[in-house]
Amino acid sequence: MVTITLKKGREDSLIRRHPWIFSGAIANIDGVVQNGETVAIRSIDGAKYGVGAFSSHSQIAVRVWSFNSAEDLSHSFLQERLIRAIQQRTEHQIRTGSNCGRMVYAESDGLPGLIVDRYGNFLVCQFLSAGAEYWKTNLVSILKELLPCIGIYERSDAKSRVKEGLPIRNGVLWGQTPPDHIEVTLYGDSYFVDIKGGHKTGFYLDQQENRMRVRKYMDGAQVLDCFTYTGGFTISALKAGATHVKSIDSSAASLNLTQKNLVLNQLDLSRAEVVKDDVFSLLRNYRNSGYQFDTIVLDPPKFAFSRQDVERACRGYKDINMLACKLITTGGNLITFSCSQHIHIDLFQKAVAFAALDAKRDVQIIEWLHQSPDHPTALNFPEGNYLKGLICKVW
Ligand code: SAH
Repeated sequence: MVTITLKKGREDSLIRRHPWIFSGAIANIDGVVQNGETVAIRSIDGAKYGVGAFSSHSQIAVRVWSFNSAEDLSHSFLQERLIRAIQQRTEHQIRTGSNCGRMVYAESDGLPGLIVDRYGNFLVCQFLSAGAEYWKTNLVSILKELLPCIGIYERSDAKSRVKEGLPIRNGVLWGQTPPDHIEVTLYGDSYFVDIKGGHKTGFYLDQQENRMRVRKYMDGAQVLDCFTYTGGFTISALKAGATHVKSIDSSAASLNLTQKNLVLNQLDLSRAEVVKDDVFSLLRNYRNSGYQFDTIVLDPPKFAFSRQDVERACRGYKDINMLACKLITTGGNLITFSCSQHIHIDLFQKAVAFAALDAKRDVQIIEWLHQSPDHPTALNFPEGNYLKGLICKVW
């Protein structure tokens, strides 16, 4: 196995068991190594720190598979890691009455770059690192054994693949091709999911716990669900007893699925209105026309893709939150999210605070929200914690 030697002092993050080694931390590589191949890691004074997957293209040159330097990466190593991840999720799905959810969450499960989501009888995988790609055949064969399914589909079409020097791939890995819309149950709610063409692996699984938690603020309310995608928070609102829900998204395909999901859940369509529009301009129009809502949900797409985007992203969060604050009835609720990993909760809270100031409203946080439990955060990898939300009272 090829050994990479770190520059002096650059083993500190490995001592804290952080799984990433940046290319600038490497002093020497003692041989030729292929993209994704396993390398041994050691400090300049020869101490061994484990084994990882080498990436010749990414700034993250090595992703650590194991901090045990005696480990030789193998089928059974991957099997053990997958068993642990899947067992935890299977228990979670039984507890929540779900036949779908995240089964494997990459670094947070000790499997850098590997995402596995279950949608009923289908698994959807993303191989987002050179190491995950290198072991793909083994990973697929283990998944097939551990999780009975009729098909495994690959959605390796995330931007991070390009950084790893890997081609974009979207297609069947094993078994049957998924239908265009597959019906799943999540915490007792039903959804049609587009595995092949939807966002991420088809659905925002990370929000399901929050879709349940917000229900107590929606009974009898006039609700505005901004960035609805396929109607997750809209279905919550209607199930909770909202008197009327307006659901906004700029994507016609997503709204088509929202409509189907309303019917699937046997909801009263006279209480639902689906609007294709740009949230930013629509909120301005509503403000100018004096519209009011009891509860507004803001669940925008990622605004910050890197550290350089943080300032611009904060302005975006401030803008939509300011407009929303102006539209909320006295004592109403603002339910607001950021899924940008580079925007820390403190910063997001500040953006919402400035929004409240500009809107001239008194705003109190009554609950802090996070990604669902099937997207855990490993303490040695805080980067895995990206979704944050606030439930606020607006006066
Ligand atoms: N709330 C959703 C997830 C939202 S994902 C859920 O619970 O599943 C973000 C959504 O914002 C996407 O559906 C995307 O089409 C939509 N979107 C992005 N920019 C937009 C804009 N400017 N106006 C309206 N919708 C937008």
